[in-house]
Amino acid sequence: MASIRQTVSVSPRIERLRDFVVTFGDLVESAASETDILREGSRLLKDLVGVDDWLPARYAESSVTGYQQYLLHCDSRERFSVVSFVWGPGQKSPIHDHTVWGIVGILRGAEFEQSYSRTSDGRFVEEGAPARLDRGEVTAVSPAIGDFHRVSNGLGDQSSVSIHVYGANIGAVRRSVYELDGTSKTFISGYSNTELPNLWDRSKAGNG
Ligand code: FE
Repeated sequence: MASIRQTVSVSPRIERLRDFVVTFGDLVESAASETDILREGSRLLKDLVGVDDWLPARYAESSVTGYQQYLLHCDSRERFSVVSFVWGPGQKSPIHDHTVWGIVGILRGAEFEQSYSRTSDGRFVEEGAPARLDRGEVTAVSPAIGDFHRVSNGLGDQSSVSIHVYGANIGAVRRSVYELDGTSKTFISGYSNTELPNLWDRSKAGNG
């Protein structure tokens, strides 16, 4: 019995993620507008990333091949999805859009986010200096508030992990990456994982 208790005590507190997706589902169901989702959803995500004891290790593994995006949960009606992004040292995204709202919270490490606006002739210009987001901080994107950015690991010598919530099954959304001159390429990101964490086993101790 002692060994079982010990195993339970060091297991990731996955129920935090379950509680988050249940509450987020209620929010998506009841919110009157995207503004409400971004405001209240940012508060919920800030709580989730405020404690770093729940993400199973396999969804925080970096790869030398590039940043990883692990699906943690997708709403059955694909109204929202939750993804862990893992940035190895020096890794960064291209300039890209999302086409749906997204909320990003830093769980581990730090990230730089450079936002861009588009000129009338289609080029991209930096919107101010890159923002550094540290552990526990939350930011948002959407076509309504600014949808173009480039993200990079804020740490040069270790991985960083961020938790993203999007207003769709984001890995299935057709969207675009861009060059500064406005050249674009469409892509559908998919996910780095083929299996999801089990949020739903309520039989485990401390998991009810
Ligand atoms: Fe993004």
